[in-house]
Amino acid sequence: MTDDRRYPDAVDVVIVGSGPTGAAYARILSEEAPEATIAMFEVGPTVSNPPGAHVKNIEDVRQRALAQERSEGPGAGAATVDSPGAVTAGTRAGRPGTYLLQDGYQAEGEDGLPVAAFSSNVGGMGVHWTGACPAPGGKERPDFVPGFDDLLEDSRRVLGVTTDAFDGAPYSQLVRDLLAAVVDHGRSAAERVQRMPLAVHRREDGRLVWSGSDVVFGDETRANRNFTLFDESLVTCVLLEGGEAAGVEVKDLRTGEVHSVAARYVVVAADALRTPQVLYASGIRPDALGRMLNDQTQVVYASRLRDVAPPPGVDVAESGTLREQSGVSWVPYTDDVPYHGQVMQLDASPIPLADDDPVVPGSIVGLGLFCAKDLQWDDRVAFADDEVDSYGMPAMRIHYRLTDADRRAIAGARAEIVRLAEAVGDPIGSEPFTLPLGSSLHYQGSVRMGATDDGTSVCSPDSEVWIAPRVFVAGNGVIPTPMACNPTLTSVALAVRGARSIAKDITENTDARERTHDKEVHA
Ligand code: FAD
Repeated sequence: MTDDRRYPDAVDVVIVGSGPTGAAYARILSEEAPEATIAMFEVGPTVSNPPGAHVKNIEDVRQRALAQERSEGPGAGAATVDSPGAVTAGTRAGRPGTYLLQDGYQAEGEDGLPVAAFSSNVGGMGVHWTGACPAPGGKERPDFVPGFDDLLEDSRRVLGVTTDAFDGAPYSQLVRDLLAAVVDHGRSAAERVQRMPLAVHRREDGRLVWSGSDVVFGDETRANRNFTLFDESLVTCVLLEGGEAAGVEVKDLRTGEVHSVAARYVVVAADALRTPQVLYASGIRPDALGRMLNDQTQVVYASRLRDVAPPPGVDVAESGTLREQSGVSWVPYTDDVPYHGQVMQLDASPIPLADDDPVVPGSIVGLGLFCAKDLQWDDRVAFADDEVDSYGMPAMRIHYRLTDADRRAIAGARAEIVRLAEAVGDPIGSEPFTLPLGSSLHYQGSVRMGATDDGTSVCSPDSEVWIAPRVFVAGNGVIPTPMACNPTLTSVALAVRGARSIAKDITENTDARERTHDKEVHA
């Protein structure tokens, strides 16, 4: 893995975007088609070492803040808020490491996605994420995808998912027991309250390490001499020949020069809003492009465990960050109770408490419920032909409305979160917050996968764009179901399948070429 600034003239595979899903393509291709030449182009800078490492692994607080700011692309310098719990309804501010869509986020008379956000850096949002990796259940599952459960297992492997990293956290089991008492009745084992699977592991020296794209790349990609990552490189369009992938046009942001790089396969893994943007800019515009866009409306509340004494030997950590005392628990989605619950123990209250009321670390329990969207064809990211964004790409125009079913679901989630907060302890504050739309950072559906090319989807179960052979799409935008749970485990699983289909194609073509060559030699 090198950072050579000379772009190649031609490679086998171009990958656009270096977040977890782009990195999954690099990893699987490195494992299964190591002879393939791969160029990965990322518009943002490298902000961590190894490239794509999670910023929480940067111990120096100032260096971490700098890495976050450098990820904020055209939004760098704008105000940020450090936890979803700190966002009150109506506030427009991004989380550190992200920046907001500057305009076009709300059409007149619509709800819009006021805090739709992006990260532009090597590793994408995967350098800033919380790492929650629950598996989807019930109607969340894209069941037409063959071998979906095995793909989830592969996804856990490349993301480095564990369930025991926070086992030492005080009160986690207590929180789960309190929640289970009001949730688990009548649920199957997979649907009961449990530890949240997290892309976090403990190093040999005991320190916690958060997975970023570096973990997904793995040593397999870093050792692959046929793989090159180019940062600060904007892919402006996919090049087609006869409607099929032929390469990309890429702008070197350091010099302003534009190059063409030929490729047999192009994977666009540029996030759920920018993947359709790249396709649109390339003239790849199937009817479903950008449509069925969905975000998970998020309801948050906090509660305080009753009668807990400080555990020995824990230090007070920064507000809102995951530390040794932070247990993370999961209340799974079910079709009957269609909210995904993420419960994190905090060491500080999201709402100020009285000065003479010291917080026992781990005793404040932050609850979040994510709602699945009622999918609508007209909810979409569209693009302007006569306006561009700060990268010079077609400007985004979000069209997004909550339906009556969505409003009922949000009311249901608000009632449910109060029930859960009361089960855990004493709720903090008079009522839950419903966060501004877009807060989940889980935008889905915009380049959705379908079982068949019936006009309602963009790509096949292999993630290949129906109308543009050998152009692949990756990321949460591929997810076709109204998913309430955190989507990265699923989008990486779907990326694994897409990467395998490319690897198979490359390997079979190479074998066929070798057989032809052998025949010619022996003739
Ligand atoms: P991204 O990680 O967004 O990467 C896309 C990359 O493409 C970016 O680096 C971008 O700069 C690049 N790009 C875009 N356009 C171009 C172009 N034209 N040319 C070149 N490069 C381009 N998800 C979960 O599942 N669980 C969680 O707990 C969770 N917590 C989160 C917490 C935070 C604070 C944040 C910010 C996100 C969280 N997420 C979580 C979301 C998660 O990070 C994303 O789902 C995941 O990163 C998506 O991976 P991706 O590869 O599809 O896209």
